Amino acid sequence: APDFAGTRVTVAGLGVSGMPAARVLHARGALVTAVTDADDERSRAQAGELRALGITVRLGDGSTLPEGTELVVTAPGWQPGKPLFAAAEAAGVPVWGDVELAWRLRGPDAAPWLAVTGTNGKTTTVRMLSAILEAAGHRTAAVGNIGVSLLDAVLAEEPYDVLAVELSSYQLHWAPSVRPHSAAVLNLAPDHLDWHGSMAAYAADKGRVYEGNQVACVYNSADPATEELVRAADVEEGCRAIGFTLGTPRPSELGVVEGYLVDRAFVPDRAQQAQELAEVADVDPPAPHNIANALAAAALARAFGVPATAVRAGLRAFRPDPHRIEHVATIDGVAYVDDSKATNTHAAEASLAAYEPIVWIAGGLAKGATFDELVQGAAKRLRAVVLMGRDRALIREALARHAPNVPVVDLDRADTGAMSEAVREAAGLAESGDTVLLAPACASMDMFTNYNVRGDLFAEAVRARATAAEGD
Ligand code: ADP
Repeated sequence: APDFAGTRVTVAGLGVSGMPAARVLHARGALVTAVTDADDERSRAQAGELRALGITVRLGDGSTLPEGTELVVTAPGWQPGKPLFAAAEAAGVPVWGDVELAWRLRGPDAAPWLAVTGTNGKTTTVRMLSAILEAAGHRTAAVGNIGVSLLDAVLAEEPYDVLAVELSSYQLHWAPSVRPHSAAVLNLAPDHLDWHGSMAAYAADKGRVYEGNQVACVYNSADPATEELVRAADVEEGCRAIGFTLGTPRPSELGVVEGYLVDRAFVPDRAQQAQELAEVADVDPPAPHNIANALAAAALARAFGVPATAVRAGLRAFRPDPHRIEHVATIDGVAYVDDSKATNTHAAEASLAAYEPIVWIAGGLAKGATFDELVQGAAKRLRAVVLMGRDRALIREALARHAPNVPVVDLDRADTGAMSEAVREAAGLAESGDTVLLAPACASMDMFTNYNVRGDLFAEAVRARATAAEGD
């Protein structure tokens, strides 16, 4: 691990990555200055904590590079276009994200990383992967945007054998030297384009996950853009490209045959053999997009040498996290499903494909997305739509173009009661046999703290109706 004694490090951002980064660097002898644009109650409290350790903090100015900075460690969400980074580049100062810092701080016998990225399904796949690794008896953790922080994991006193690492496109952007054992890009669809600037820049950042892979680059055979990223990557000699498909697998693929997940990649005789891993029914829920996640997790586990029996045991032990296509209640024959985690159009597409007829609750922050394709694909399954949130007009206009006969309720309110009004409106439009689906296709922060809160409010409103219905 590098020696930071006397190094002048600027930590950008005081959030979940900045606070531990500042502490660790300070503990290793760096001269840390933490900077942030914010100057509010929360940041002042955080500044107080850091100053008590002897760390310099500058509030209300995250743009100018402190004099003498030798290294910038940034929160992953800070946009590359910020003046701070232009100043760093002009001064020849390297910029690391939280993931790069964790990678550099790994010890000599550090656990290898099995990395997962993609537009959707990352958290689910990483959780499946860690369940499989655990079933195989490995000391492991699901880390990254979830569970244990990456920094804590690499600095843990009880060493891990292997880490299941979720990496976002932002984190990969700032992680130039990370070299996973193996990695998967699950899928690529437009998201966060306002941050990255273009689809090409977004894809390139995702593709970084394959750089330097040692054993396997796992791609989605149904999504050629992911395979292209494998081809463009500079990998270790002998590293293999492994596809996953919902159809019959070719050699060097994992796929599905007659209700079974099968492996034609990690078998003794690649041309001939296929190894059964698990039943489709072992995957919860057994929806197509989730089978794909399970295949990707299985591929990474197999690349690490996990036997088929452990893949099955791990998948059986796995349960999905809340707000990911979660069935909340059925009232008067209408099912209410919470997919608040569908924060972009590609995710919403997966849940909209799973039900019919649907009363769809959508809207929020579009993050630069367009909705024509999504609405066009779902049009014939829509009974009605309830829209809310800042960018709802974009969805309304797409509906007018592609589903002009579908009734739309436009909620022009952003207060805490908005979600329960949305549920009330949706319930009024739904008929027995329908599904009321919260799949916003947008981020939540215009109206809610995060997607968890959005989903919780939906579930609360639904449960209140269920209780009222029981009382009838
Ligand atoms: P991430 O961590 O990438 O945001 P999650 O596993 O939390 O992904 O799932 C987010 C949402 O994306 C889910 O609620 C579901 O709607 C959708 N989703 C999950 N897996 C896939 C997939 N493989 N393809 C498309 N959509 C998916």
